[in-house]
Order: sequence, then structure tokens, then C-alpha cells
Amino acid sequence: MEIITNLIFWIVWIVGIIFAPRIASNKGYSGFAWFLYGLLLAPIAIVHALLMSPLCPYCTEKINRNAKRCPHCTSELNNT
Ligand SMILES: [Zn+2]
Repeated sequence: MEIITNLIFWIVWIVGIIFAPRIASNKGYSGFAWFLYGLLLAPIAIVHALLMSPLCPYCTEKINRNAKRCPHCTSELNNT
């Protein structure tokens, strides 16, 4: 049973290392910083990456994920 617990632990960690930087960089954050975050705290990093607000690609201010226009710099946002 211990082998299975260890296996699940490592799978969660590897998923965190792969997906936390991917989600974060899609939202405009530094992929490298989030890779390190994933490396240290994979399960927390992945939840954090999913919940955090995206950044405006023009002024890097935090914005609502459904916003069509940045409230800070008024740039048009094309969310898909
Ligand atoms: Zn902006």
C-alpha cells in the first residue's frame, strides 16, 4: 500500500510541475517562477494557478477573467 501512496504523491507532484507553469503563463505570469513554485509546492501551486486572476497582457494589472476590456489601460482583451 505504501508504494501506491508514494506513486499517487509523485503523480500529483509531476502534474503540478507540468501544469502550474502552463496555467500561470496562460494568465500572463512568469512560467519559470511558477515552475519553481510547482517544484516546491505542486498541489498548492496548481490550485493557486487555477484560482488566481489573469494579468492584462498590456499593463500586467490583475483583471477579471471575463473582462472584455482592461479596466486599467482600457486595452481590448480577446479572451477565448
Ligand atoms: Zn491593461
